Amino acid sequence: MRYISTRGQAPALNFEDVLLAGLATDGGLYVPENLPRFTQEEIASWAGLPYHELAFRVMRPFVTGSIPDADFKKILEETYGVFSHNAIAPLRQLNGNEWVMELFHGPTLAFKDFALQLLGRLLDYVLHKRGERVVIVGATSGDTGSAAIEGCKHCENVDIFILHPHNRVSEVQRRQMTTIFGDNIHNIAIEGNFDDCQEMVKASFADQGFLKGTRLVAVNSINWARIMAQIVYYFHAALQLGGPARSVSFSVPTGNFGDIFAGYLARNMGLPINQLVVATNRNDILHRFMSGNQYVKETLHATLSPSMDIMVSSNFERLLFDLHGRNGAAIAGLMDSFRQGGGFSVEAERWTEARKLFDSLAVDDAQTCETIAEVFGQSGELLDPHTAIGVRAARECRRSLDIPMVILGTAHPVKFPEAVEKAGVGKALELPAHLSDLFEREERCTVLPNDLKAVQAFVSQHGNRGKPL
Ligand SMILES: *Cc1c(COP(=O)(O)O)cnc(C)c1O
Repeated sequence: MRYISTRGQAPALNFEDVLLAGLATDGGLYVPENLPRFTQEEIASWAGLPYHELAFRVMRPFVTGSIPDADFKKILEETYGVFSHNAIAPLRQLNGNEWVMELFHGPTLAFKDFALQLLGRLLDYVLHKRGERVVIVGATSGDTGSAAIEGCKHCENVDIFILHPHNRVSEVQRRQMTTIFGDNIHNIAIEGNFDDCQEMVKASFADQGFLKGTRLVAVNSINWARIMAQIVYYFHAALQLGGPARSVSFSVPTGNFGDIFAGYLARNMGLPINQLVVATNRNDILHRFMSGNQYVKETLHATLSPSMDIMVSSNFERLLFDLHGRNGAAIAGLMDSFRQGGGFSVEAERWTEARKLFDSLAVDDAQTCETIAEVFGQSGELLDPHTAIGVRAARECRRSLDIPMVILGTAHPVKFPEAVEKAGVGKALELPAHLSDLFEREERCTVLPNDLKAVQAFVSQHGNRGKPL
């Protein structure tokens, strides 16, 4: 499988190189040159497979030529073996023909484990084969950091540095990062905000001299392997609800457009999906595009669903590429005008094309709490605020009551106690067994000033399993 850039000017790469690449050299994102397509009979024959075996069938075409089948199978069995629920992504019924797919039974209780558990293992596999080491430097406002650390903690060939804003992530989120020890794991609390952290990561990619030749790898949601891993659970849910003979709809709590883009790909690979609902919080750039063809940057709002607090949705470029007939020059032009003027619209027929599949809703904090309380009252299910936004959007945007609607349950409610308290459902939140002593565990973290040079010096001092690069 070959991968090409959405801006048309970077060389095509194979899977192995895309895994290590991050952004393409022309500033674009990598996508498969040709998407695999499965027949209905083929998809139907996968009903009842264990999750890791389904994952093998769905993802195999993407890694062909880079990872032999037997090795890939083993990696997938290990990856999904660490989940605490045997069904990996169980469905729970909320209402008539309405389901939540629980994607929070991984080590860090959010759906990001599906991709980052796999990414860590894939990186280690490829690096071992090449006899190379890499350094990961990532910024987090919460969920990504812990999932990336959990995913990389056993990697022989990866040193991971995660920057979070000092005193500005929740205690559960901080402890999920700082209580994992290893000589290749480094938590850095920056005396600044999340944007400061992200700027330092960007600056480090732009000037990598401090790494003394060691390769720097991205773990944010633009990494193709993360998208690829997320395609699988759309097939998994549909197969349980009568697919592919019957079509299914999905509602996806969305920030960077990564998770929902995986659903779009599942559909293009042959899975009958009727409708995809883009569910955003007050940071609603995607909703403004879907409802009014305006992709315009606005200021950032802090919400009760912080994992969707974004101003720009980085993976949206991948959808735009398809909407423009895969014309890289057109995308480069759009992105230029976005950078200069802060916004764009697309031609009417392209927007209409997108609207055949996508609907959207923006949900504010008050409505989020209202939905948590409503669902708890109706079914006894306690939702996290991100999932609640998905439910709200599903209920308002649903096109057909005859078609099953699956809401992606992106996090466990215990990660976001503030929203649950505000919703006033009066149910005590308990950490799952594997995290029950989280508040007693020892923490390890280095506090550094908001200063790029200090961070880079720290990385080069510790980037080789705690020793200097
Ligand atoms: C990351 C995250 C999201 C948003 O996912 P995208 O792929 O950025 O759209 C939603 N909910 C939770 C809990 C998350 O951690």
